[in-house]
Amino acid sequence: ALTIGIVGLPNVGKSTLFNALTKNEVLAANYPFATIEPNVGVVPLPDPRLGRLAEVFSSERTVPAVVSFVDIAGIVRGASEGQGLGNKFLATIREADAICQVIRAFVDDDVVHVDGRVDPADDIETINTELVLADLQTVENAVPRLEKEVRGKKVDASVLEAARAAEAVLSEGIPLSAAVAQKKLDPAGLRELGLLTTKPFIYVFNVDADALGDSPQAVARRQELAALVAPAEAIFLDAQLESELAGLDDADAAELLAESGQDEPGLHQLARVGFATLGLQTYLTAGPKESRAWTIKQGATAPEAAGVIHTDFQRGFIKAEVVSFDDLVEAGSMAEAKARGKARIEGKEYVMADGDVVEFRFNV
Ligand code: GDP
Repeated sequence: ALTIGIVGLPNVGKSTLFNALTKNEVLAANYPFATIEPNVGVVPLPDPRLGRLAEVFSSERTVPAVVSFVDIAGIVRGASEGQGLGNKFLATIREADAICQVIRAFVDDDVVHVDGRVDPADDIETINTELVLADLQTVENAVPRLEKEVRGKKVDASVLEAARAAEAVLSEGIPLSAAVAQKKLDPAGLRELGLLTTKPFIYVFNVDADALGDSPQAVARRQELAALVAPAEAIFLDAQLESELAGLDDADAAELLAESGQDEPGLHQLARVGFATLGLQTYLTAGPKESRAWTIKQGATAPEAAGVIHTDFQRGFIKAEVVSFDDLVEAGSMAEAKARGKARIEGKEYVMADGDVVEFRFNV
């Protein structure tokens, strides 16, 4: 399964956030693919549609999609030179498919900041510099090796060119993803190098309670912080509040959430943004046994989607019968949705859409 690595300076609230995530953790028994390790949190992707489907189909249970987060030890200045936890840190982060950077934006004199002051812009710069330096070291080591391999015709010259282009970008202190976004760099040739700054980034600002909700000053504060990382996604949450929310029953959590002025916990937003950042989407199935969300890559075709349930479904795929969630709920039952002509028959080329409720037909 794809994972999101949580990184950040020490004392920014990473452990607090990770603890909140693991309080939400799904039962490993339902997710045999998820090897649960102490530093991995497998959390449900919030999806209110599942509850509605379960009503329509009288399902015994609902099974959400999940998102996996890995807690990675704190970065400090010099991490790229292997200081402290540097090397171990870099190896773990290399395995993550996206990076979630936690930034301290809360003020609390009782919590020491490693650099002695709360300065989100500076902290982002510190982390990104370490990641850029680590990548620079990787490509500097790779270029001489690739030159040899190109001469020996073991590697295509385009791979060496890509590494050299990446070296030029990194030497200027620019993360590779920024150059890729501006179409100044093609990531295709860089894949095997395991670089860090080509990964998609999410920024989580750990803010004080007064930066949440709809007050003009809260909105202004969030805009100011979001501008530091745009066009990357910014999420705002209070890690301590999230940790408290995750430990409460539904009624108490709803009350505390309402007091905070938020419509939903920040963790829900984090799970959704994380899932999308990994390039994933879901489709739905429903029946008396369960209403379930299945994880597919964005752009997956109907047979690929069927293959997530069982490889035989993909091999023997005939067609998919698809009703959109909205049509289905409006009709009130599958039979009524079909009677209204809302069920579509889709073939092998069909690209799955978000909210598709599907029944597959296949040969065994
Ligand atoms: P880590 O080193 O990044 O994992 O940081 P921790 O999660 O251990 O948090 C460091 C300290 O900051 C702990 O004492 C937390 O209780 C505190 N802390 C975490 N989040 C918040 C927050 O949102 N507000 C305040 N005031 N303190 C926080």
